[in-house]
Order: sequence, then structure tokens, then C-alpha cells
Amino acid sequence: MKNRTPEEGLTALTDDAERNRLLAEMAEQSTDMISRHTPEDWRFIYVSPAVTHLLGYTVEEVVGISAYDLYHPDDVEDFRLRAPTVNYDRGLYTHTYRFRCKDGHYTWLESTSRTIRDPKTNGIREILVVSRDASHRIKADKANRRLARVLESTQDLVIFANLDFTVSHLNEAARTALELERTDYSASPLSWFVTEKGFRKLMDEGFPAAGETGSWRGELAMRSLNAVRIPVMLELLAHRSLQGGIEYYSLVAHDLTEKKVAEEQLKQYQADIDHASRLVTMGELASSLAHELNQPLAAMVNYLRGIERRFADKAMLSWSDVELPISRSIRTALRAGGIIHRMMDFTRKQEPVITSLNLPELIREMVDFCESMAERNNVRIAFEPPSDLPPVRGDKIQLEQVLLNLIVNAIEASASSEDEDVTTVDIRVESYGSSQLQVEVEDQGQGISEADMSRLFDRFFSTKDTGLGMGLAISRSLVENLGGELWAENIPAGGARFSFTLNTTD
Ligand code: ADP
Repeated sequence: MKNRTPEEGLTALTDDAERNRLLAEMAEQSTDMISRHTPEDWRFIYVSPAVTHLLGYTVEEVVGISAYDLYHPDDVEDFRLRAPTVNYDRGLYTHTYRFRCKDGHYTWLESTSRTIRDPKTNGIREILVVSRDASHRIKADKANRRLARVLESTQDLVIFANLDFTVSHLNEAARTALELERTDYSASPLSWFVTEKGFRKLMDEGFPAAGETGSWRGELAMRSLNAVRIPVMLELLAHRSLQGGIEYYSLVAHDLTEKKVAEEQLKQYQADIDHASRLVTMGELASSLAHELNQPLAAMVNYLRGIERRFADKAMLSWSDVELPISRSIRTALRAGGIIHRMMDFTRKQEPVITSLNLPELIREMVDFCESMAERNNVRIAFEPPSDLPPVRGDKIQLEQVLLNLIVNAIEASASSEDEDVTTVDIRVESYGSSQLQVEVEDQGQGISEADMSRLFDRFFSTKDTGLGMGLAISRSLVENLGGELWAENIPAGGARFSFTLNTTD
């Protein structure tokens, strides 16, 4: 037998009075508000008790008044215009509007109306309305619309993706950045809009992590329709249904192009400053180096003069007569060449190359390089490294720059005149924890005043007449970039100690 609708069931009841009684009872108990209205001015003929819960009125207060009196003024006109022309779809018409409650505030109602016609004349006899509170839905709709507006107007690229990794929606920023303004992108594979490497990262890391914890964050590059690369910080969210299964994904990508350009510029700027500072340090060493070069040149002149003299005395000379001065000249010329090469290396502008370096060896070279400056300042450099230290990670020129800054500062701080006692700059290198080496450069100068201590590593802080004040700032940032630390302290015996750490490669 065909199932009857409740209404058909009721119609089937033979007793009309019984049918009306049941209908009235259903209306009385319904949480929806059921009302009957006159067709002309929508006066309430009947209203169910739900009116009290929904709007605050008693039944008696409402029966007899026109629904038009309680519509929101902004909706009334709409109603009047529409009412006569309303096309009741199969006798039913649903609309949402604001209605005044007893306390004066307006609430949203959703009503379904139905005309009851006179079976004889087919004229409208009355209108039956079922209304329910729609304020929650309207609020939720509003909140959704607000969210959608935010989504559309944000500068971040927002993409919704289906479970098969096709795109279902892109916000305006994404459509613009990915150059899809005039393209139908729906159901396009997500892989079109991410670089190959980026997509692999998403598949290997992003989606599995979002599936597990709900979200994932990572840096990767997206790609526009015309293959323009867009570096982004991407937040991937997995959205689940109430049943718990993942329904879809959303991707919010923050464009890092400008940040990357700024970072690149900053890196370039930093490299320029580092280079300038190396030139300045070399300038500080210049007079000592000139002196150091002068010595081998003078020695070579002496050796050659010796040979010249021997030729003058004897027309015929054997190899054994000139071997010693010639081989000494060569050694001395090579030493002078070595100094010049080091200067050129140090002052050349080049990209850092991170390698494994023997730190004691590097310190030794720098000590040798500064030896003549130390001598001229009545300073002795002491350096006795232990023999079995592991190599460190770093760029050779950068570490030379740090060491040179500290050693030159220490010599300058300890400088004294020839008739005074020689002071010592002590350099030590030793293991620091399990995976670092620590270098200490200790001098016997005046030490650092409390006021200067806090500004020591600020850019352009210098107490020297010709100082640039960049050496320590640069040294600290170079060491920190390599994962180490650089700090200064005064030592009880007087003088300052500068220490820094570097990671070993083991
Ligand atoms: P500059 O050598 O051009 O002044 P630095 O950044 O290398 O720039 O040093 C900044 C300042 O730190 C120096 O001017 C000096 O006042 C102080 N300073 C650096 N090394 C020492 C040291 N060994 N003893 C005392 N003061 C020091």
C-alpha cells in the first residue's frame, strides 16, 4: 500500500470534527508558529502558542492585528509590492523577513505561506503560515558572507582544493597572482599552480601532516599560468566533516616575493659592508705590511748586490758561489709574494664558501700576518694551540676577517712604546662542549668601560680617532650566521677578552 502523507492521513479521517481537533492539537504543540491570516490585510485570525516563545506576545495580543503592523519598516514596502503578485509555487511561498517582538527588537523569521481557497468560488479564503526563527541562520549567513568578503579581499592567495587535489575555488588575490582572471580554473589540478619541487613537498609532507594534525606550514614556490615563480609561506588546512572524514583542503599562501627581494638586497648590502670593513682593516695594517714588504725587498737587494760584487771580483763564478744568495732571494721573494697574495685574497669581493677549516692553522696564519704590526706596537702574540682539534664549519675569508678584527683591536689596545715592557696578546683555542671550538683573544690593555661595554657591538661605535666602528658588529654577525656566539668581557688582571665559538664539522 502507498504511504500516505500526514495530511492525506488526516483527510482520510471520516470525522471532520476529529480532523480539526487533531490539526488544532498539532498546531498548539508545534514549536513552529502556525498562524492563519485574512487575505486582504494579513490580520491574524489564529496564532499558535509558539508566538509567545518566538516573539514574546500572548495569543490574545496578536489575534486581530495585521501582520503588516509588525513587519520591519524596511520590509513592509517589499511585502506590499510583492503580496498581490506573489506567485505561490504549488500553493506554497517561503520568505525571510524581520518581525517585531514584544520587547520592541526585530527578529528574523522564515515563513512558509499557503493560500486556502474556497472550493466553490476558488477565491482565497485565508492564508495559512508556518513561521520559524531564522535569526541563527541569518547570523550564520552574515558571518559566512563576512568571512567570504575577508577571503576575497585578503592579499594572501587562498585556494580550496578537493580530495583529488583539483582546485575548487581561488580568491581574487590567487586568481590575479596566478594569472587566471580570464581562465576557467575549476577542476584544474593543483599541481599546475605549484612548482614541481613545491608540489612534491606538499604531497610528501604537507598533505600527510595536515591529514594527521589538521594543518601544515611550509615555504615553497607557486607558479602562475605563465610560469612566473612566486615564493610563498603556505598554510595548509584539512577540513573535516562532522563524521570526521576530510572533506576538502584550503591553502593560504603569503607571497614572499618582496621579502625575498629585500633579503637579497640586505645580503648584498651586508656583503658590501663586510668588504668595506675588510678594506678598512687592511688599511689599519697597511703601514705594518709595507714595512714587512720592505724587509724582504731590502734583503733581496742585499743578496743580489752580493752576487754583483762577486762578479766584479771574479769574471768566472761557479754555481756554488751564487747558489746560496740566489735560493735565499727566491725564498724571500716568495714570502713577499705570499703577503701580497694574502692582502689581495682578503680584500677581494667574493661570495662566502662554507667549508671544513683547520682553525689553529688559520689562527697561525693570521698571527703571522699581524706579527710586524705587533712588533711595531711593542706587543708579543702568544699562541700555542693543542694539536688534536676537529675542523670547524665556516668561510675562510669571513673567519680571517673575525680573527683579524680581534687581533688588530687587541694589539691596538695593548700598544705601548719601545721603552716600556712588552705586553702580550694571548690567543687560545680549545674544545667547547661536544660540538664547538672556542677561540679567546686576550690582551693587556685598559679593558672596556662599563658604558662602552653595552655599545661595543653596535654599528659605527668606535672610541678611536680613525675607527670605523664596524669591526665588532660585523664579526658578531658573521659568527652568529655560522651558528656561533661572540662576546666580550674584562679580565681581573686588566685588559679585555673577546671569545667566540664555532661549530665543528664532526
Ligand atoms: P673600530 O676598531 O673601528 O673602533 P670595532 O667595532 O672593531 O671598531 O671596535 C669598536 C670599539 O670597541 C673600539 O673603538 C674600542 O673602543 C672597543 N674595543 C674593541 N676591542 C677592544 C679591546 N680589545 N680592548 C678595549 N676596547 C676595545
